[in-house]
Amino acid sequence: MFNTRVKVKELLATAPENQEVTVMGWVRSFRNNQFIALNDGSTNNTLQIVVELGAFDESLLKRITPGASLKATGTLIPSQGKGQKVEVKAHSVEILGDCDPEKYPLQLRNRPSLEYLREIAHLRFRTNTFGAIFRVRHSLAFAIHKFFNEKGFAYLHTPIITASDAEGAGEMFRVSTIPFDNPPRKDDGSIDFSEDFFGRVTNLTVSGQLEGELGAMALSEIYTFGPTFRAENSNTARHLAEFWMIEPEMAFYDLEDNMDLAESFIRYLIQYVMEHNREDLEFLAQRLAEEEKQKPQAERSEMGLIEKLEFVVNNRFERISYTEAIDILLQSPAYKKKKFQYEVNWGIDMQSEHERYLVEKHFKKPVIVTGYPKDIKAFYMRQNDDGKTVAAMDILVPGIGEIVGGSQREERLEKLEARMKEMHIPVEEMWWYLDTRRFGSVPHAGFGLGFERMMLFVTGMTNIRDVIAFPRTPKNAEF
Ligand code: ATP
Ligand code: MG
Repeated sequence: MFNTRVKVKELLATAPENQEVTVMGWVRSFRNNQFIALNDGSTNNTLQIVVELGAFDESLLKRITPGASLKATGTLIPSQGKGQKVEVKAHSVEILGDCDPEKYPLQLRNRPSLEYLREIAHLRFRTNTFGAIFRVRHSLAFAIHKFFNEKGFAYLHTPIITASDAEGAGEMFRVSTIPFDNPPRKDDGSIDFSEDFFGRVTNLTVSGQLEGELGAMALSEIYTFGPTFRAENSNTARHLAEFWMIEPEMAFYDLEDNMDLAESFIRYLIQYVMEHNREDLEFLAQRLAEEEKQKPQAERSEMGLIEKLEFVVNNRFERISYTEAIDILLQSPAYKKKKFQYEVNWGIDMQSEHERYLVEKHFKKPVIVTGYPKDIKAFYMRQNDDGKTVAAMDILVPGIGEIVGGSQREERLEKLEARMKEMHIPVEEMWWYLDTRRFGSVPHAGFGLGFERMMLFVTGMTNIRDVIAFPRTPKNAEF
């Protein structure tokens, strides 16, 4: 058996009683040819391994360099030095993998920037920042399942490859095995997709919602949590071509029930991470505070990361209608001073600058906006009696803008069909979706939470490429 190690995190919390322990990890630093700072990713903290002067071969000591991996066995003793309670006095050290410091990318720059670390995303896990981020990401994913499990929701796996291209959520990636250089063609010269793998055009999913609704129409409360793909050519700090989305879908819910669920969900997730990842959050808060110091005073946020998270847990989200939101924007000093790049009037699809004005400047807290104009929203949203708006809700948060998009779904068959025709959605192809409205339709609602947007909010990171292990963005699919 090789894996006899105790994790660094565990050892740091263990009372030292001269017990023999084995640790394995990567060298962060080696001081005075005596003190190894060892990290194994279980925490950002390192364990000090002391190799006594004269006790080990010079040839071995030379190989203890930053990035090298090793196994050390020794006794756990109270630390003589400052900064740690325990240390391991090594009696054996075995190098598992050498690491040439002259070539090790993490050694080549003193304080590697986040941009540089994106170029070496395969190694950035080894930095404190990304160690913290990916432990938080894990916790957040776990908390999502825990939340829904406690509420009795079923985790439904909706398909990644889909033939429905009617959702209109974004540009899609085609899935095909047709040879690009010589595709089968129909008489009129167009590509014959009936010859393709699935016998029809298929794409990567942009959302699991439509299939999620089918599940909710029997299991009553389901959620999906999977990858979604959008070939949107928007190179922003908030969009990925491949991102993860959580989409609960609930029978017997109206818009208000939907908002209540979304709000308590977000609060629960933040609370969970604050409880279980305190150390990592404190590290990230510190990182953010340093980053903020570089900014001009006016652009700095009023709250630190932890304060902001506590604030969200302790305060109810503001709830306003789209019409109210537009009025606030039209009355705002920013609008009057022509500070907005995009125009404001009833009917616009609010831009990020508008959303951020509402949450950061006006309300200074998360805001749920409801009742959007039907013309800027999807066909499946429930039509309001005014004939102009739909029962949609978006949740906007400081620093990010939209984090959740959801709605009560149109459960009335005639209304849904009429809207689909108006929007040129192929009604016949969607027969399976419409069947739920034919056979025992019920009021129902759901929403989509962008996992990486939630990660941005919780970690205080500002670029979405830094909260997913291997970001997929236009012109970039390295690793
Ligand atoms: P946006 O206006 O920001 O592009 P959207 O209206 O296209 O968002 P929805 O279709 O409602 O978003 O998707 C639900 C959620 O998925 C959004 O609230 C957001 O959190 C997340 N999301 C949407 N597009 C992306 C993307 N390209 N990358 C990462 N997350 C995304
Ligand atoms: Mg979008």
